[in-house]
Amino acid sequence: MNLPNILDARKRTDKKTEYIYLNEEYDKSTFSSKKYYLRTYGCQMNVHDSEEISAHLESIGFEKTDDLENADLVILNTCAIRENAHDKLYGFLGRCKHIKESINNNLIICICGCMAQEENVCKFIMEKHPYVDLVFGTHNIADLEKLLINKKDNKQNIEVYSCEGNVYENVKYHRDSNFKAWVNIQYGCDKFCTYCIVPYTRGKQRSRKSEDILKEVKELVKDGYKEVTLLGQNVNAYGKDLEGEVSFAELLQKVADTKIERVRFVTSHPWDFTDEMIDVIANNENIMNYIHLPLQSGSDRILKLMGRRYTKKEYIALFNKIKDKVENAAITTDIIVGFPNESEEDFNETLDVVNTCKFDSAFTFIYSKREGTPAAKMDDKVSLEEKEQRLYKLNEIINDYSLMNNQKYVGKTEKVLVEGVNDKDQTKLFGYTETMKLVNFTGDKDLIGKIINVEIIDAKSFSLDGKLKEE
Ligand code: SF4
Repeated sequence: MNLPNILDARKRTDKKTEYIYLNEEYDKSTFSSKKYYLRTYGCQMNVHDSEEISAHLESIGFEKTDDLENADLVILNTCAIRENAHDKLYGFLGRCKHIKESINNNLIICICGCMAQEENVCKFIMEKHPYVDLVFGTHNIADLEKLLINKKDNKQNIEVYSCEGNVYENVKYHRDSNFKAWVNIQYGCDKFCTYCIVPYTRGKQRSRKSEDILKEVKELVKDGYKEVTLLGQNVNAYGKDLEGEVSFAELLQKVADTKIERVRFVTSHPWDFTDEMIDVIANNENIMNYIHLPLQSGSDRILKLMGRRYTKKEYIALFNKIKDKVENAAITTDIIVGFPNESEEDFNETLDVVNTCKFDSAFTFIYSKREGTPAAKMDDKVSLEEKEQRLYKLNEIINDYSLMNNQKYVGKTEKVLVEGVNDKDQTKLFGYTETMKLVNFTGDKDLIGKIINVEIIDAKSFSLDGKLKEE
């Protein structure tokens, strides 16, 4: 039993990152004919972690199922970014408990991901949810096989480490797609923005070696993948923690040189966005002209309280530089409304940036207090009602600009990577343009996984309608 600890999670030492090359093979018959159900909450990092979890489970014989009642093992890969994530997890755990009591007494219930790294969550699970069999954290996913093989019947085990973390290589993934792939280039974060829990749940910034990243990308190219998204909590700080390693701009160039058809990356921090990066994006056709550039606030006072390391003026200057150099760039952002004691004036500064930049779209949130972060201790006199009104006003403006930006596509022909059948209308396919616009159109399922030309015939705030372009 190992419980997480916030003080250890916050620590940063001079200890060098260890690179661990996995090579253990497991016996597939250990859990043969057993089924696992995996539910993922949160960001792309979690989605990709789930692809790793699946591969670990399949290496000891488990098979995937989408039917919760038919599962022998349930894994909930959680997110800790917002407070309401807890309610979602505990709500779903109630369903699992019911199944364990009424349908399958041997059901194994596991919790992992960022919430598992929180002290209060583990204590709550020990006290109120004793039927949960295993809790493991973000630092020991690679031990999953051993944790399950060594599991003692009916005994709850919590194995969560609060440490700076290592880098695992030779990791296997059960990828959800056979044409687009996530590729981790960097783990953890050392920025410690005052509202954010990530530096505590994911450890210090650790970059993978560029040779290992390029090997993975080249294998994906060989396997016919069309698109890679380079993934990191602070992707453009890549290499800063590794002596003698290339910069993010240089890495981006090397990935583009593999000739994969599409290269994307998330998430960038404006503070680490260099001119060299902008040039590499502008000069390589296979690096997509889509950039997610979190703003968080337009008020210099709030940005300082958030520990974001840039001012409103610097953010706008960077935005303009990207727009000037990268042809037809689409830029999206994240905005937090109602950070402790955000005044009407502060909020208006955010609206001013939105009206200046006219973002293609934005993920907007009401500030959510995360226990253990500096912002959680800040006194806050702004009411929830006021914050909701600000969010509503912001979203109206954002949606207007999204529609305005989307309308510019009408009549143009766009290259679309076709991803699948539209959930709501099975007669339609959907895919994404180079600038990450969602396009719905009628076409044959054979097109899934291909990059094709689509003529845009209509625009909405959140999507485009298209028509297959006859070649
Ligand atoms: S840079 Fe991103 S991940 Fe890191 S602390 Fe700030 S918001 Fe969190």
